[in-house]
Formats: sequence, C-alpha cells, structure tokens
Amino acid sequence: MIPFLDLKAINQRFEADFQHGFQGFLDTGYYILGNQVKLFEANFARFCGAKHCIGVGNGLEALRLILEGYKVLGSLEEKDEVLVASNTYIATILAIKQAGLKPVLVEANFDTYNFDFNSLKDSISDKTKAIMPVHLYGQLSPMEEISKFAKENNLLIIEDAAQAHGAKNEKGMRAGNLGDAAGFSFYPSKNLGALGDGGAVTTNNDELAEVIKKLRNYGTATKYVNELLGFNSRLDELQAAFLNIKLPMLNVDNERRRAIAKKYISDISNAKITLPKYDGSEDHVFHLFVVRVENRNKFIDFLDRNGIGHLIHYPIPPHQQEALSEFSHLAFPNTEKIHNEVISIPMSPIMTDEEVDMVIEVLNKY
Ligand SMILES: *Cc1c(COP(=O)(O)O)cnc(C)c1O
Repeated sequence: MIPFLDLKAINQRFEADFQHGFQGFLDTGYYILGNQVKLFEANFARFCGAKHCIGVGNGLEALRLILEGYKVLGSLEEKDEVLVASNTYIATILAIKQAGLKPVLVEANFDTYNFDFNSLKDSISDKTKAIMPVHLYGQLSPMEEISKFAKENNLLIIEDAAQAHGAKNEKGMRAGNLGDAAGFSFYPSKNLGALGDGGAVTTNNDELAEVIKKLRNYGTATKYVNELLGFNSRLDELQAAFLNIKLPMLNVDNERRRAIAKKYISDISNAKITLPKYDGSEDHVFHLFVVRVENRNKFIDFLDRNGIGHLIHYPIPPHQQEALSEFSHLAFPNTEKIHNEVISIPMSPIMTDEEVDMVIEVLNKY
C-alpha cells in the first residue's frame, strides 16, 4: 500500500529537534508572540525575498487580514470586487467575503489550472480593485501576464501562496514576493507544514505590514491600546518553533517533489491519464500531483484494488457549494470539468524510488 501522504513519517525526520524545541519553549515560559515567532518571521521573509513577514493563525486569516489591512489603509472598501479563480479552494473566496468584499469568479484554464485570460478580461468592472491569483497545486500563476493586466487596470495583486512555499520564477523570485502581498498556510499537509494550524502574510509594503501586525493582535501595537478594530490571529509560538526547525529542509523537499514529478511525467504513459503540463523549472513545487481521467470512479476503484492512495482536489467547485449558493446560477464549464476529472496521486518528499516506480507501474496498467 502506498499512502497518499504519510505526514507522520514526514515529521518523524525532525523528531529529536522537535523535542529539543519543545523543551526550549517550556523553559522560556513565554507562550504568545515570543522569540520563536519573531525568528520565524525573519527567516520566512528572507526565504521568500520579501521585506516583511507577519505570522498569523492560519491561511484563511492571512488572506483576510491582507484585505482588512488594505481597507484600513483606504486602498479597498466594502463591496469592491476581487477577481478570483473559480476552481480555487474555498478559503480564497471566503477570505474575500469575510472582508466584506465581492468575489468575482473567473473561469479556469486546463493547462495552468489558473485564470482563463479571456474570461479574466471579461470579468473586470469599474468596481474591480484587486486580483487574487492562486498558485494552485504548487504551480506559480502566470504572474507576468497577471502583473501586466493588474497594472493596466490599477488592481492590487494578492497571491494565495498556500500551496506554493518556495516556488520560484525564472528571475529567482519566490511566491510571496510576486505581488503586493501574499498569504501562506502552514496547515500540516502543506509543503511547509506545522504540527497544527499556522499562517503568514508576506509583503514589501511597510504600511500594510504595520497594520496587519496590529490587526492580528486586537488592533494594538502597545498592549491594551486599541487603535484598530482588530482580530485574534497570531501564529502560535510553539508552531513557530517547529516551523523554524522545518524551514531549512524546504528546498530539499521541494527538489525531491520535482524529481518525483519529472519521473511520473516521463514514465507514466497512458492515453487515459492526462498529466500536468510542466516545463521542468522551479516554478512548480508539486504540493500535489494532479492528473485528470474521464471515468474517475472507475480509476479510483482501480487504484484502491492496487493499493495506491489518492485524494480529489477538489470534488465540488465553489459555485456549486451549498455555502456559496449566491453563485449557483453561474456556469463555468472548464471548472466543472476539472472538478469532475481531477485526482491527486501520491506525492511527498519521503517517497522512495521503489514507491514511485510502483505508482508508475500501476498507472501504466490502467
Ligand atoms: C490550505 C489553503 C488555504 C487555507 O489555509 P488554512 O491554513 O487551512 O486556513 C487557502 N488557500 C489555499 C489554496 C489552500 O490550499
């Protein structure tokens, strides 16, 4: 049996350091926004090449706090429209709604699993103020085209980088430094995952960073002096300690993910299975290895019979979710087809060559 993702084994690699880190944490007696959070913020900002990193509670709140921060600064106001891909994970859309803004869903492209550019152009109105590209499955969105489009239309770019820690463009710039601000998640299964919830905002904007630092902690810069109507969304001190231990392995892990993806792409040869489009560069960190098949239930049966783990990212598109019934009248044929056909096969930095070969062998027999 090859598991879809063996998180326990991934984290066992760091066990001795985690225990040491936990003891250090206990010894300080300092539990909220301490030195480990500060250290992680410095480490992760440097890693992304961004000027600021602010540790927050999770990925959803990272995205929401960016939008709330721009509202405080006057760059966004309630009911402004935000362009977002219709095939994203629901968190991106929830962040927009929770900030009182209006998500405008944009049809997806089959090759990039990102915006379809013709639909993007058709989706703009005089209320559109921001665009949220999602680096879905670990692949950078086409940021050059998006930046050009954003510039022409005077839009803020907010990256949803929750699946793309470490992804790098041809100029060596990483996710988190490719727009005006970015939201990251450290949910345990992400490429950089905590042992619980965690998230971060990165930005080069000094004012925005300062506002988000206040917003995450009850709107205060000085204890008990509330300047803003804030939130409670702080990166946990212990999770920051674990993330400081794991961050130095991120590049190595991403490199292993890419090597596995390259092997899958070169050796899986089955007309019934559509592989991801990948140019071999570092712009993809393969958070997930997502293929498409026409008769997915039949394929799932086959994987189950052959002991290959799998998951679907995602089975129901946002506009067809009960919670988002306001969008139920809309049709996104590409997005609907993607949600009907995608399936993720095993991908993790600790898969052995034998396991990778076994997945390939099974898929070629389908
Ligand atoms: C995981 C994820 C989020 C949300 O992160 P949480 O930490 O679970 O809140 C947002 N967007 C995308 C694309 C994600 O994959």
